[in-house]
Amino acid sequence: MSAPNRRVWLAALALIVLLGGLGLHLLFDPEPSIPLARLSGPAETLEAACVLAPGADGSPEERPASEGGARLGRIRARILLGQGVSEEAASRQLGRLRAYIEPRGLELELIEARRLPIRALLELEGNSLDAALEAQWLDPRGDGGAEREATAALLLAPIRAFLEAQAEASLELERRAPQEPLVQIVLLHRISGIASIARRILPGLRGLAITSEGALEELPAELRQALEVPESPPTIFVSMDDLPRAGSGILDTTLMHELGHALGLTHVELPGNLMSADPQRCLPHLNASQRASLRSRLEASGR
Ligand SMILES: [Zn+2]
Repeated sequence: MSAPNRRVWLAALALIVLLGGLGLHLLFDPEPSIPLARLSGPAETLEAACVLAPGADGSPEERPASEGGARLGRIRARILLGQGVSEEAASRQLGRLRAYIEPRGLELELIEARRLPIRALLELEGNSLDAALEAQWLDPRGDGGAEREATAALLLAPIRAFLEAQAEASLELERRAPQEPLVQIVLLHRISGIASIARRILPGLRGLAITSEGALEELPAELRQALEVPESPPTIFVSMDDLPRAGSGILDTTLMHELGHALGLTHVELPGNLMSADPQRCLPHLNASQRASLRSRLEASGR
């Protein structure tokens, strides 16, 4: 082969290697990362259409840090955006979350943001679930235990697969800074499809927090048992498109409530409290024992 020919071949080879590398990169990096700056807009003041007076639940909120109360600690968050969720909307929502938690002594640090490759995690169409159930000779509209159990198992399979798939990436992040708690926040376009059986089995589901401790209070017992949570950091799911339609402030409250679960808080039957099963929309508060619980949780992890 002559020298000029060899140069052409080498150039072609280099191009093939480069393009091949890019192709492999696209194949093996199915979750494109999002520059954190794009999700770190200013903390936005919450619309306080119904600010609750401290003490509305009979147990006044401990003084927030902004009024000289104690700083509780820092939460590191890994953000995952569903398809159809814009970075602007996510940034605004995270800003509103920070506007709620910062005066309460909690800091949110974004350490990684990625876009989910799948259209949406829980957008199970009724038809595909029906077909899967029928393949097992089960009546998808039936109310029998077997149907419900099978539905639960099918419904939870994508959640389990998702958590398993994310575990590697999040464990790597935990290795880098093991002393700080890590929470995964998944902002989905919609948490369950309009025609989906998920809607029937989980009516009124707004958000979901899944932790290895099993604080899955939003799920019925049979679903909780069927889940078998894999090793993963606490993970929150909320729907960005459905909730605002249900009323202003609902998405804010849901996200804060699920973050509470992710940090170990359980439901309380106190209207006006963030961890009430149906928290009020505007500035629900945390009481002294919940703040103490958060503080010890964050201190236990070294903050
Ligand atoms: Zn809850």
